[in-house]
Amino acid sequence: MDERFARHDTGPHHPERPERTESVRARIEQSGLAARTVAFEVEPASDEMLEAVHDPSYVRHVARACAAGEPVLDSMDTAIGPDSERIARLAAGSVAALALAVADGRLDAGFAAVRPPGHHAERAKAMGFCLYNNVAVAAEHVRRRTGLSRVLIVDWDVHHGNGTQHLFEESPDVFYFSVHQSPLYPGTGARTERGRGAGEGTTLNCPVPPGAGDTEFLGALADELVPAADRFEPELVLVSAGFDAHAADPLAQLRVTTEAYAEATRIVRGIAARHAGGRLVSVLEGGYDTDALSASVEAHLRELVDPTGSD
Ligand SMILES: [Zn+2]
Repeated sequence: MDERFARHDTGPHHPERPERTESVRARIEQSGLAARTVAFEVEPASDEMLEAVHDPSYVRHVARACAAGEPVLDSMDTAIGPDSERIARLAAGSVAALALAVADGRLDAGFAAVRPPGHHAERAKAMGFCLYNNVAVAAEHVRRRTGLSRVLIVDWDVHHGNGTQHLFEESPDVFYFSVHQSPLYPGTGARTERGRGAGEGTTLNCPVPPGAGDTEFLGALADELVPAADRFEPELVLVSAGFDAHAADPLAQLRVTTEAYAEATRIVRGIAARHAGGRLVSVLEGGYDTDALSASVEAHLRELVDPTGSD
């Protein structure tokens, strides 16, 4: 968490606003969790890191649009300000650096409270509040810089992570799992989308209907993710941790409780413990009710830092 993530200015009425990371930062301080964690120095992603998943021309396009003072990027959803490219680069870079620190054993696990979020960003297109695909940049960075190759990305944001799925759908080494509301933006993520070519079978989508709650949300993780992950045997687990499936969230219609995020965390920690030496990095995606968001992040982090539940 870094106060600079509040400098990505999306304008006065945008749901993806600076108060999001500020509320998370305040909650981590007030809850005493800050004292039980190590603050991690954030750093911007290099062109090379971004271009491992994004087209070079897209990276230049983002920089140009922000420098020119344009109000949106590629669609009306993705509001930008003059500092947005710099902050998006910082978000992707810090997630990648954190994932590398966990991958090579300098840290046990990590959480990156960044914005803008990333999972909708495609190879050459901004979408849905996302400029660079933070979790994808991190996965590729670790795969290129370490001996680890098999990465599991668990995306429990209420929206389907179209960008992440598309970036890895042909890769047998990166497993993409998503539980999300359907129908909902962006409209992708049907059960029939299971990967392509060599990546057939390493994409798993679990859409749930509007009105679904903890039973369906946690059921997808326990009954569908866990057996698939146990077969895949990941060496690193990354979580696209959006908290907009929460009942209080204004952008979707699921009824997930704060407590469910603690249970969800235990499930992914179990996977990381069984296969990946505990290596787990969680990355903030959505979550637009700041009270629900900060409370859910606290529940998530309490389980991440808990040294007793190591199974
Ligand atoms: Zn979302």
